[in-house]
Amino acid sequence: MTALAPGSTIGIMGGGQLGRMLSLAAAQLGLKCHIYSDVPGGACDVAAASTIGPYEDVDKVRAFAASVDVVTYEFENVPLQAAAAAEAVAPVRPGPKALAVAQDRLEEKTFISALGIPVAPFAAVDSSSAFETALATIGHAGILKTRRLGYDGKGQVRIRSAAELAPAFDALQRAPSVLEGLVPFAYEVSVLVVRAVSGEVRFYDIPLNTHKDGILDTSTVPSPLPAAHATRATDIAGAIAAALDYVGVLGVEMFYLPDAPEPLVVNEIAPRVHNSGHWTMDACLVSQFENHIRAVADWPLGPTGRHADVTMTNLIGDDAARWHAFAAEPNAAVHLYGKPEPRPGRKMGHVNRLRKRS
Ligand code: AMP
Repeated sequence: MTALAPGSTIGIMGGGQLGRMLSLAAAQLGLKCHIYSDVPGGACDVAAASTIGPYEDVDKVRAFAASVDVVTYEFENVPLQAAAAAEAVAPVRPGPKALAVAQDRLEEKTFISALGIPVAPFAAVDSSSAFETALATIGHAGILKTRRLGYDGKGQVRIRSAAELAPAFDALQRAPSVLEGLVPFAYEVSVLVVRAVSGEVRFYDIPLNTHKDGILDTSTVPSPLPAAHATRATDIAGAIAAALDYVGVLGVEMFYLPDAPEPLVVNEIAPRVHNSGHWTMDACLVSQFENHIRAVADWPLGPTGRHADVTMTNLIGDDAARWHAFAAEPNAAVHLYGKPEPRPGRKMGHVNRLRKRS
């Protein structure tokens, strides 16, 4: 048996709210967490140990990895050198391949489409010399996205004509980018899959996701996705997880086009627990956080079934000031991340509002 016994320590690279909720879930199983973060606070406030340092400090990362039993991460932009340094001393789950693929939109789309899975039409735009070919491939309306470090709608610019491509590229500081065709979707869904060391996979019910200002606003289950298309969606996520030899929770964001020959188009993958899975904390026996910990600790996976209908609403910026009212709501669970300043666009917490299972 290779399962980590209670009392073992899980190293988490990244100190944000996802690391915080992973640490809380691990604690319930008698496992300790050691956070590696470049800033104090956040996950460090609830973990057994923390190391504060830059991710580029490979000696520090190596010492951190040597002090834990397994290393995982809670954000996809962990530098590959840091993941490699950790892997030299401890198992890293999910493996660095998932990081490499998810960190670069061009790699990501190339990898997913090579599996025969639909993605938005795309073309690389690494310099202005690529404009003509990209426009010929994609057409004149699309979204230019930086290959790296984009999130919550940041690092992307819509274009409505060929003439808008050059200014869009300038607006992105001419960073290597991808031009994507617009997908005329009806709505967005995501699949949360958890994959064990053994290769066993389990799926949570698929939420419908809405966004506000490019940031996830709500995730609701059940979604109206028809059963046959839900099966297709989980098949897609399972195939991506298997191709990455993935261990842990993987989020796969998809566009849904009910009448298209290929009704599900993958937007992007998140090699970590995902915001659209926060509802599992209160509507499932075992949350995405606990299942990620179980997977990386090589425990049996927990049930992913759902006992209630639920809408998760993110508390962004000043929304969290109404914490008292949320706490007073019947059938709601409020989760706050302990962040000091409610800056605009900052994820401060979320509320899960439960309803009787339909
Ligand atoms: P992303 O940062 O790639 O997740 O994009 C943020 C949001 O922009 C998505 O959730 C969609 O609502 C929208 N979006 C991104 N790419 C496309 C696309 N190719 N077609 C239509 N909408 C898109």
